[in-house]
Amino acid sequence: MGSISESQNKPHAVCIPYPAQGHVSPMLKLAKLLHQNNFYITFVNTEYNHRRLLKSRGPAALDGLPDFRFATIPDGLPPSDADSTQDIPSLCVSTTNTCLEPFCDLLTGINSSGGDVPPVSCIVSDGCMSFTVDAAERFGLPEVLFWTPSACGLLGYTQYKHLVEKGYTPLKDMSQLTNGYLETTLDWVPGMNKDIRLRDFPSFIRTTDPNDTMLNFLIQESSRIPRAKSLILNTFDALEHDAVSALSSMFQSVHTIGPLQLMLNHVHDKRLDTIGSSLWKEDSECLKWLDTKEPRSVVYVNFGSITVVTAQQLTEFAWGLANSGKHFLWVVRPDIVVGDTAMLPGEFVSETKDRGILVDWCPQEKVLKHSAIGGFLTHSGWNSTIESIVGGVPVICWPFFAEQQTNCRYSCVEWEMGMEIDNDVKRDEVEVLVKELMDGEKGERMREKALEWKRKAEEATAEGGSSFVNLDNLIKEVLLQ
Ligand code: UDP
Repeated sequence: MGSISESQNKPHAVCIPYPAQGHVSPMLKLAKLLHQNNFYITFVNTEYNHRRLLKSRGPAALDGLPDFRFATIPDGLPPSDADSTQDIPSLCVSTTNTCLEPFCDLLTGINSSGGDVPPVSCIVSDGCMSFTVDAAERFGLPEVLFWTPSACGLLGYTQYKHLVEKGYTPLKDMSQLTNGYLETTLDWVPGMNKDIRLRDFPSFIRTTDPNDTMLNFLIQESSRIPRAKSLILNTFDALEHDAVSALSSMFQSVHTIGPLQLMLNHVHDKRLDTIGSSLWKEDSECLKWLDTKEPRSVVYVNFGSITVVTAQQLTEFAWGLANSGKHFLWVVRPDIVVGDTAMLPGEFVSETKDRGILVDWCPQEKVLKHSAIGGFLTHSGWNSTIESIVGGVPVICWPFFAEQQTNCRYSCVEWEMGMEIDNDVKRDEVEVLVKELMDGEKGERMREKALEWKRKAEEATAEGGSSFVNLDNLIKEVLLQ
């Protein structure tokens, strides 16, 4: 443990994620990396998520260390004891409108706390919490923005204003969602292939409302990137070279430092292992079940922390999995069915009890690295996609919203490690694709590709690799300036 004067002399990074699972986890990894590089850390959760973390992980997970502390601010939404992801559009509006002052008060409080707490020296903020740029300017602090989506996804968001100007969105009417309009190709987007289609862009263009909350939120947030000193991405150059180049020509300082999961191999302080970010209680029993299975024999199914499905879609997935005859590990969040509790057909449960296991929430990074996993049926969230790459696991993509559409396109076409399943999911298609993924020739080619990307990710994050060097530069050239 460092002495008081040692702590006092450290640079102090205040890290603030957007308050949803897929943002909190990568920000915590980045905070641990900065701590390894001698930073004092204050990690800012919302009160809502702090309560959930206490419940899912126990108080020890939030005790922190003398130089790695947790703090909270309210998110501006009405108090709630719920254990599910908050409504995303409402959260975007409330953080934008209400969080600046509590955040500034927090910074003032830190700076006047004295003792072994060094004054704040920089802000590391989620790209979707850009009100923090106002705070940084008010306090004269350098700020970096961490955008947790893929580079291709962020590139998609940066095009929203052009898509509006050119009249592609808002849609004229909702029939454009189904009449082939979304197949329109756009050959002018820098950093994207000329056959990219409207439907590959992040989903918030699928609106007829010029005042749509999410469309305008993303236009607003991406327009504030130039006010930060640097933009950080959880990806690596070899994977997203063209998208990263395009972003680098738009913004002055872009640092790809992922996959952060692998960068954590450089963190040696074992005390940080108890600090976790899972907002649901993890069921680790499934790892023991996987231990009993043959290599690459289990299909893993998980749609992340936000996706909701209809009861009908859940049933189609269930029978598709059952009819594939494969072993499966399926994470069914209690709140996954819109407006209902997730109920699977009783017949399905009894028919598959010897080869399937259902859990509420699992330690996904460990699952995807388990040798028993042969494929991943995913909603194509960016964390899930990059965790699949780290595990060398090919994917079937069923994108739900946001930039998942873009990740799906890149997984299938650019990285050649994925196959897409129709949004209007049918059990026969699930069965055919799962069999292909696990046993087919295409599945095998996708697996080889996924393993190739895994090796490249390891290279990027090893000492001297692109992500390793970029993090070093970020710290020296931006955060310590
Ligand atoms: N996750 C997990 N266990 C689960 C489901 C999800 O640990 O049962 C983690 C997963 O590893 C990933 C995050 O939750 O880091 C989900 O992020 P992603 O970007 O894939 O999707 P989102 O939840 O934002 O839609």
